[in-house]
Amino acid sequence: MQPHDLLCPRPEGLYSPAGDFFVDPVRPVARALVTHGHADHARAGHGAVLATRQTLDIMALRYGEGFAGTVQAAGYGERIDLGGVRVSFHPAGHVLGSAQIAVEANGLRIVASGDYKRAADPTCAAFEPVACDVFITEATFALPVFVHPPAADETARLIASLAQFPERTHIVGAYALGKAQRVIRLMREAGHDAPIRIHGALEKLCAYYETQGVTLGPLVPATLDGKARATAEDGVVVGPPAAFADRWSRRFADPLTVFASGWMRVRQRARQRGVELPLIVSDHADWPELTATIRETGAAEVWVTHGREEALVRWCELNGIRARPLHLVGYEDEAE
Ligand SMILES: [Zn+2]
Repeated sequence: MQPHDLLCPRPEGLYSPAGDFFVDPVRPVARALVTHGHADHARAGHGAVLATRQTLDIMALRYGEGFAGTVQAAGYGERIDLGGVRVSFHPAGHVLGSAQIAVEANGLRIVASGDYKRAADPTCAAFEPVACDVFITEATFALPVFVHPPAADETARLIASLAQFPERTHIVGAYALGKAQRVIRLMREAGHDAPIRIHGALEKLCAYYETQGVTLGPLVPATLDGKARATAEDGVVVGPPAAFADRWSRRFADPLTVFASGWMRVRQRARQRGVELPLIVSDHADWPELTATIRETGAAEVWVTHGREEALVRWCELNGIRARPLHLVGYEDEAE
């Protein structure tokens, strides 16, 4: 069996000819395996979806219970047979429920990492390297310039700013699934106990994280009847970045714009968005994490997708690892 018999790129996404299923298809298909709940990987309308319980729950929260014809939950490490192909899900360390998907037949194993990171994250299970013949890696931050600082240090800068400018409302842009809960949790770990105001778009997901044992402390709606809700003790509001583009953030007193994203490493991006306090908090692997992970998998061949494919392909070649870009379409950095 050749790798492309086990997985190959199709316009809909990665397809397994041997098992007749797709991984993270961007269009509706008969059978989809989904790595995690971000919108560019988890779409509604598939015939059947196989994913972790948490990813299925997150898809139901975002799309409604009828998001797929049928669903099946896969536990981490559990082996499931699909038409003679053995598939298993392994923690990816990206967001709650996120998984790498290993597919295996006739002694050949390919691991599709989905999105992943290696840095510690108190809101999800840590990435587990899986030995494989072919490793499919993301490449969102695949340039040597991307070296993410510890997220706790970035959160400490936010807390310091809150102390320095108590009269200003710190409006923290953080993606609704994963990033927002990670930032809130890190603030709690840094001793910030006051209620945190959140945008309505975060409410269901934050409540779900709580049910999964990720304690976020007291959260209150940021707005009441469309007006900024005043709380005397706390000057922080967390909301999705899209909320910043509209008038939502202007309801708050003297807003100070904060954005938590791996892209905040690029100063020009922070300036373009009018971000006063950029926090480099990423749910994607940085360059050292990408290259270390490729080595750890022991893969003889690497396929590089969604991001800066060329630099990582080149790095693999220089290190004696066969590599090629996959050029899958339809994946954005929604989550970053
Ligand atoms: Zn993602």
